[in-house]
Amino acid sequence: MDSKQFREFAKAAVDYIADYIDSVEDRPVLSGVSPNYLSELIPDEPPQTGEAWQEVLQDVDRIIMPGLTHWMSPHFHAYYPTACSFPAIVGELMSAGFGCVGLSWVASPAYTELEVVMMNWLGKLLNLPEEFLNCSEGPGGGVIQGSASEVTFVALLTAKEKKVADIRSVHPEISEAEIKGKLVAYSSNQSNSSVEKAGLLGSMTMRLLPVDDKGQLRGGTLLEAIRKDKEQGLIPCYVVANLGTTPTCAFDKLEELGPICRDEEIWLHVDAAYAGTAFICPEYRHLMKGIDYADSFNFNPHKWMLVNFDCSALWMRNAKHLVEAFNVERIYLKDQHKGLAPEYRHWQIALGRRFRALKLWFVLRIYGVEGIQKHVRGQIALAKFFEDLVCADPRFEVCTSNMGLVCFKLKGDESLTIKLLEEVQKRKNIFVNTGHFQGRHVIRFAICSRLTERRHVEFAWNEFCSVANILEGRKMETMDKPMPTIEIANMSCQKIREKSK
Ligand code: PLP
Repeated sequence: MDSKQFREFAKAAVDYIADYIDSVEDRPVLSGVSPNYLSELIPDEPPQTGEAWQEVLQDVDRIIMPGLTHWMSPHFHAYYPTACSFPAIVGELMSAGFGCVGLSWVASPAYTELEVVMMNWLGKLLNLPEEFLNCSEGPGGGVIQGSASEVTFVALLTAKEKKVADIRSVHPEISEAEIKGKLVAYSSNQSNSSVEKAGLLGSMTMRLLPVDDKGQLRGGTLLEAIRKDKEQGLIPCYVVANLGTTPTCAFDKLEELGPICRDEEIWLHVDAAYAGTAFICPEYRHLMKGIDYADSFNFNPHKWMLVNFDCSALWMRNAKHLVEAFNVERIYLKDQHKGLAPEYRHWQIALGRRFRALKLWFVLRIYGVEGIQKHVRGQIALAKFFEDLVCADPRFEVCTSNMGLVCFKLKGDESLTIKLLEEVQKRKNIFVNTGHFQGRHVIRFAICSRLTERRHVEFAWNEFCSVANILEGRKMETMDKPMPTIEIANMSCQKIREKSK
């Protein structure tokens, strides 16, 4: 393919993407294909001679499109958002076009240097403690990784190496293997699966501790677990605190956990994968209280901050610990600029690095801080609107509502909520998933797509009501006929409750 054909192909592909996003609302949010659908549509072997790009693009429509779950659909309300914005898509395209691998400063100076500046911009935007920033006087710094899962693992490995070095500096007679065999990590039982996985991969016992009735890990619980482990001769090493858990977006009590970690010399990692974006809005920064105790902090611009996957921001209070844990040198990697700019390969697992800072830069410049704040506030307001709709219907109850995520259920037997969810999933008009809160099934309703508007929230609520009506044996409401509850949704939650009494 020459550059002339590339221009034609790429322009057609850009048109295809723009048409797709403009029309994604009209597609069923969930794919209707069955497992192995694709192997029947595609040859067993690659073509011997090259094909025309037009045929390939046609096959995207014929073979790929039917098998997509439409994450950008305004009817997608499952998991947490995964960002997709036009500036970030162009950033991805350009990064692919440059075709560099940023394995060292000299391998592509702009890769490293833009990342340093972007991590400063982003850290300032969140109002992180100054020590975390690359531009601070001290050893702190920020780096972009692929995912929050990777970051939790990287921080665990760093904590592990630091703990071994600290102990051996006082007790050189104790072997590394003996220390490593005794290390323990802690997090809450509401943590993302990736936290448990980090323990598995890093060969460190991970205790998933119980939470309070708000889904928060409290200091007393951590302290008790540490005490028990120390009595057994084990060595507390690593704590992962959540600012925004996956099931309900609960915030662990960082201001209680922090002092314990400091006193016990335990590495405190903060996982704010989803909710971290909200700290760009000053009114949500109180939720970061206790951040000054953290050794590392992470959030995913690829979730809520309009930067396409993958882009996970990690800051370390002292990045030297990370570099010491991960530094493996080779003659072919050395260059004369060592020390003047971070060699980010020592800050991550892989050697090669993508140019993720480019899409971050595009998003920050093209949306501006105000554009991102507007996006976050708009999505939180939509979730509040949904919460009010749920509150207004006496059949339902809201279990939690935090930062764009509403967890709710049908009152009465748990089997009703499970059935409701099953039926809604079968209809495929919206996509939601389930969670657990206080040992019970809840439906998680998140505002995910940047295309979601009030009318889509109304649509989703009608969907739940229609299915609930069917389950109750009532006449099914038509989808395009608004439910009467929507008319009162502008009222405060309290007023609605009074009205429904
Ligand atoms: N941590 C939390 C709190 C999450 O909600 C998630 C995903 O939703 C993750 C970690 C994992 O994120 P990633 O897919 O970037 O690994």
